[in-house]
Amino acid sequence: MELDVHKPTILVTGGAGYIGSNAAFLLSQQGYQVVIIDNFKHGQQFYPDWARVIKCDFSDQSILDQIFTHYNVEAVMHFAGLIEVGASVRDPKIFYEENVVKVLKLLNKMQEHGIDKFVFSSSAAVYGTPTKVPIVEEHPCNPINPYGNTKYAVECMLSDFSRAYGLNFVALRYFNAAGADVENGLGERHKPETHVIPLLLEAAQSGETFSIFGNDYQTPDGTCIRDYLHVKDLASAHYKALKFLDGNKSAVFNLGTGIGASVSELVNMVTKQTGLSINVEVKKRRSGDPDRLVADPSRASTLLGWKPEYSSLETIIADAWLFYQKPDAVLYYSDQSYQQSSVF
Ligand code: UDP
Repeated sequence: MELDVHKPTILVTGGAGYIGSNAAFLLSQQGYQVVIIDNFKHGQQFYPDWARVIKCDFSDQSILDQIFTHYNVEAVMHFAGLIEVGASVRDPKIFYEENVVKVLKLLNKMQEHGIDKFVFSSSAAVYGTPTKVPIVEEHPCNPINPYGNTKYAVECMLSDFSRAYGLNFVALRYFNAAGADVENGLGERHKPETHVIPLLLEAAQSGETFSIFGNDYQTPDGTCIRDYLHVKDLASAHYKALKFLDGNKSAVFNLGTGIGASVSELVNMVTKQTGLSINVEVKKRRSGDPDRLVADPSRASTLLGWKPEYSSLETIIADAWLFYQKPDAVLYYSDQSYQQSSVF
């Protein structure tokens, strides 16, 4: 896709992934020009007619130089990175490399080119096991796994860079992203899949058994409570964050609904929405799972003027199920490491 070199442009790293593609699409709908960089190791292969897509590592210094020189990049939205908590425990080195070291390289390149706006995909994992729920942003950050540590490390780096170099950033602490933009074919299928809703849909369709990880938590039905947010609502928060940065301010926001749902409630809702029964077994707890993680989203509501519109459990699961059944929702993965030295 040919772009206008003068038009305000947003660079979206990891823009072929689940949340990145939804946010990038919304930006394009709002009139921004979008350049996506993605290594396609974990993202879907897709050929949008609303963005330029470049296959590369998001810290590739030469490609960043070319993009920042060629286009009128106003801000960078950073979604790329590793997300699987279990893998971060087994192999933290790669998480620090991908989620921290490479972000430093990206920020340095932005600074060199005078780009001072950054939107960062952070996570509720920065809070660890909360002492008070719903969680406000002032709650102490005590991550309990390497994934959460890497997210918190970048948040610290952003605050320090903001103070020292005038970087303007928004860190968005996602609770549980879910649902899909069915109409535009932008939804969730990770490989390997570890997230509860796609696993439940798979169990409903295949007849395989779904495992509930523990039913002895301090919650009304004994299963863990999480705050599920529709990915279209997540996307709109990113757009609002970009607008917030126009005021040359930095902030951290929780993104959640403020309402939790238990794993058993999800099982019931998936059964209802799919009309299929699910074989369920209860297994022992997954390590590091707190009883309840629910956001207090008041700050995002007040300062960003953001409110979830699509995040009822019915809509989330209905959309996830529609997306799951779409034949063109089958994603293609590439294991080749892709090197591109020149993009223009
Ligand atoms: N969960 C479960 N069975 C599964 C996968 C997840 O019971 O096969 C539970 C998990 O223990 C947690 C909730 O579902 O309480 C959400 O897990 P997910 O991995 O989707 O998101 P997380 O909250 O860990 O980011």
